[in-house]
Amino acid sequence: MSVNWSLPFEEKIIPSKYQSKVISPSIYKELHKIATENYKEFWASIASQLEWFKPWEKVLDDSNPPFYKWFVSGEINASYLAVDRHAKSWRKNKVAIIWEGEPAEGDKPKEVRYITYGELYREVNRVAYILKEVYGLKKGDAISLYLPMIPELPIFMLAAARLGIIFSVVFSGFSAQALADRINDARAKLLVTADGGWRRGKIVPLKDIADKALENTSTVEKVLVVKRTNNNITMKEGRDEFFDNVYKQVPLNAYVEPERTKSEDPLFILYTSGTTGKPKGIVHDTGGYLTILHATMNWVFDIKDSDIMWTTADIGWITGHSYIVFGPLLEGVTTVMYEGALDYPNPDRWASIIERYGVTILYTSPTAIRSFMKLGEDVYKGRDFSSVRLMHSVGEPINPEAFRWFFRLVGKESIPFGSTWWMTETGGIMISHLPGLYLIPLKPGTNGMPLPGIDADVVNENGNPTKPEERGYLVIRKPWPGMPLTIWGDPDRYVKVYWSKFPGIFYPGDFAVKDSDGYFWILGRADEVIKVAGHRLGTYELESALIHHPAVAEAAVVGVPDPLKGEVPVAFVVLKVGQKANEELKKSLNEWVREQVGPIASLSSIYFVSKLPKTRSGKIMRRVVKAVITNQPVGDVTTLEDEASVEEVKKAYEELK
Ligand code: ATP
Ligand code: MG
Repeated sequence: MSVNWSLPFEEKIIPSKYQSKVISPSIYKELHKIATENYKEFWASIASQLEWFKPWEKVLDDSNPPFYKWFVSGEINASYLAVDRHAKSWRKNKVAIIWEGEPAEGDKPKEVRYITYGELYREVNRVAYILKEVYGLKKGDAISLYLPMIPELPIFMLAAARLGIIFSVVFSGFSAQALADRINDARAKLLVTADGGWRRGKIVPLKDIADKALENTSTVEKVLVVKRTNNNITMKEGRDEFFDNVYKQVPLNAYVEPERTKSEDPLFILYTSGTTGKPKGIVHDTGGYLTILHATMNWVFDIKDSDIMWTTADIGWITGHSYIVFGPLLEGVTTVMYEGALDYPNPDRWASIIERYGVTILYTSPTAIRSFMKLGEDVYKGRDFSSVRLMHSVGEPINPEAFRWFFRLVGKESIPFGSTWWMTETGGIMISHLPGLYLIPLKPGTNGMPLPGIDADVVNENGNPTKPEERGYLVIRKPWPGMPLTIWGDPDRYVKVYWSKFPGIFYPGDFAVKDSDGYFWILGRADEVIKVAGHRLGTYELESALIHHPAVAEAAVVGVPDPLKGEVPVAFVVLKVGQKANEELKKSLNEWVREQVGPIASLSSIYFVSKLPKTRSGKIMRRVVKAVITNQPVGDVTTLEDEASVEEVKKAYEELK
């Protein structure tokens, strides 16, 4: 049976403002091949652009796979590179961080801070002094940071990095249980938290939540509390201390010598989003991580000293670690961070942030873009996006419709806009468009091609490369800088999850296809593939067809067992504002999908809901949808955004059963 795929494999867009950088996909493939065949030399040449205290003895230690070590015995310090180097240069008075708090009057934020590199240097040193001299922490110790999006968060990360203290940032939207799990897993000695944080006009009582979490932890000896919201909290004698009180006592010009951390020393532990199951505590090294950030900041973001970079993620996720904190600061540019939500107090706050600070590089997510789209274009009439010269998306596959909409609205169809594929585990971007290097034409929804030196491919069940347009599993064959050291405290799980499906090859767990030009398209999670009449489809393909319909804002498609067909696709659909949910629309949606994807793609049912179960990082949790409607246990939902979304799915399903 022939299938009329809806994905725009053939469409090619050349952004006019980057015309001079454009090369053909086949030429890029040749360049990629040369770098990737000589990947050790290639990565060594990139790493040597960083400042090392002592050069490495060996580029790659591959004697104990899959526990690879990059730039072995080289000495380097992440905090020194991100802060000291700039503070001691002409960048001293340049703004490192622009921070905007949530509380606002009308459209105007009440608090904005511009922190220069010089100030950042002083603050990082004072905080490092506290960690070292007041709390006696040293290299190899672990601390947990449970903070809202306030400047203290990156400052503590940088202070810990300065001393080789392993930090574990726990997203401030997490519950006591999720926090306790992460503290216990990391064996953190110190917890840094705040009295509260602002979100959508309400105070999230972080200290109260932390107190509850600490009832179930045994490693934390001390708690430092940053004052943010001034809500009532209880302080435990001997354990808890206000950050302000300690900070006040630190000499203004405190200087803490940066530790000569080894390249292979752990920099941080970070837990994955939990989209597919129990989160994994990924451990990143120092030298390899900084190398992939340096490469991607230049190739993917084409970063220049004059740039104002805004990554809309939370620092609690890898995207925030890499592209709010370490990436931009490593390159000495200005990074924007904001507290609260993109659509509060005004639905178009995100547009105001771009205008207010003249954002030039925008890095956002499909879930954010779809939520902007849901409100319709009129909301953004007259907004000025002209400062933005380059943008990318990350987190989930971007549906072609969402791509086109944002590309038109913000990008004026003239600047690069890509969908960068990577994950907590990879440390930095792996598959992308590379406007800083050479740009292959854009295609709505594609991820572009693997970075030079990244040996990614799509393979079938036997591990052999698939033919063009044949669906398969994404893999990375060769080690790369920024890869994990391990899963914290569970090396066996590290081997099992990533290195066992195809022995000796890294398996991210994503389903993908390469088109005839060699572009990669990530089609969703490998374990969420839907088998329709013998064809294996990524959830993305059916969801994108639905989103292409003018009434649809968001969709989650899952496969459910069917006695006759084996499996049938079922869709949960969120409509755009002002659309009416009725039987007629259902019929028209089903016809639409059959038209877009082909006659095999018949949805067995469509349910209308007002929200979908998502992770706190904004990813659709299809496994939860599937569990609910197949009456299975929902599994680990500690990273679920909103319990009510699960109830809604249940209700919508029960009503029609
Ligand atoms: P868990 O591993 O706990 O299930 P998670 O995989 O959602 O959670 P992250 O590391 O935050 O945790 O996300 C990485 C995943 O996000 C990738 O494996 C991929 O499925 C998806 N992803 C990220 N960026 C893109 C993109 N540009 N296009 C398609 N998918 C993407
Ligand atoms: Mg994952």
